[in-house]
Amino acid sequence: MSPVVSDTPAARAERLAVARAAYADVPLYDPKRAPVDLDLTDNTNLWGVPPTAERVLREVPVPVITRYPSLYAADLKAELAAWLGVTPDMLVTGAGSDDVLDSAMRAFGDPGDGVAASVPTFAMVPIFARMNGLAYTGVNETEAHALDVEGLLTSGARILYVCTPNNPTGCVTPLATLRALATRHPGVLIIDEAYAEFAGVSAVSLVREFERVLVVRTMSKAFGLAGLRIGYAIGQPALVTEVEKSRGPYKLTSLAERMAVAAVRDDRAWVEEHVALAVSLRERLADALRARGFVPLPSGANFVCVPVPQCVAVGQAMRARGVAVRPFPDLPHIGDALRFSVGPWPLLERCLAAFDAAVAEVLPDRVTPTAAGGAA
Ligand SMILES: *Cc1c(COP(=O)(O)O)cnc(C)c1O
Repeated sequence: MSPVVSDTPAARAERLAVARAAYADVPLYDPKRAPVDLDLTDNTNLWGVPPTAERVLREVPVPVITRYPSLYAADLKAELAAWLGVTPDMLVTGAGSDDVLDSAMRAFGDPGDGVAASVPTFAMVPIFARMNGLAYTGVNETEAHALDVEGLLTSGARILYVCTPNNPTGCVTPLATLRALATRHPGVLIIDEAYAEFAGVSAVSLVREFERVLVVRTMSKAFGLAGLRIGYAIGQPALVTEVEKSRGPYKLTSLAERMAVAAVRDDRAWVEEHVALAVSLRERLADALRARGFVPLPSGANFVCVPVPQCVAVGQAMRARGVAVRPFPDLPHIGDALRFSVGPWPLLERCLAAFDAAVAEVLPDRVTPTAAGGAA
């Protein structure tokens, strides 16, 4: 008998023993995104790229690519500042808001410090915490999908992370709750507003009141530029300077910065129009799910989260029919749930047809309240 040598990536890494200890059990991010006909898993803009940004893509002079990009994306900061009504020194950009969040954790936490967040929330947060040697604490949300403010505050974490509208639930945290957290938390409060455009409310005003509030946003969702990797954050100058140091220079490519500048300057009407469309189709999708006897959570984002038993099996049965949605098994107070990204109605109709067939297959005994579109 030969000795059994474990050949998992973690076991191999352990034998190699060159990486920092905090990385030992950090997995590679794998949201199981195998190619599928209709992908409604990542909440990107299914209407495409805004028109002015697309024109820049076609017309950018090739020599732009041979030189380094700007150090800290000054042109984009100027454009964002004019739009958001802040000054450019209150902005920091990054290669996606993922990069901004990662840089912020590195900037504001010494190894061993804590990061606390409500559960469920954005899946990357515990990963970024661990990658930066920080201890992550998840604090279950309340039954009403609100933040457990006392639980977050008593966690003792140096960094608090709040996502609003929250991914994956879609629920919005009221500004008064965020203000209460910012008032009472002695450390940094990071507010992730990846979906703020769809909620029509923003916490950007809080950065004027509080020196330790960082509002993080992205051009990957409403602005339709996920493939370019453009994120940014707003905070007081002293705070964003620390994130800028941690992020380092040259993070945005020349092409990304040019397209982002064009989009913020000239495509806002396109963005607003498609945000309004996404919001109305989100409600139509929620109605369609309710008509089938499901109870979607209230969403302020461009997706709908709906409790569905055996969500992994239902998701797989949908995938077998060419449609991917994201399953979230065993969420606190929610149980199993599916998250559907919102896009043009014909796509959502296809998605609902796959959902009906999957529910009929996986949950054959489920009682549906109406015949129309049901699992019969
Ligand atoms: C999509 C998403 C992001 C990441 O956006 P990028 O800018 O593409 O890195 C950040 N936070 C939340 C909550 C998201 O859903």
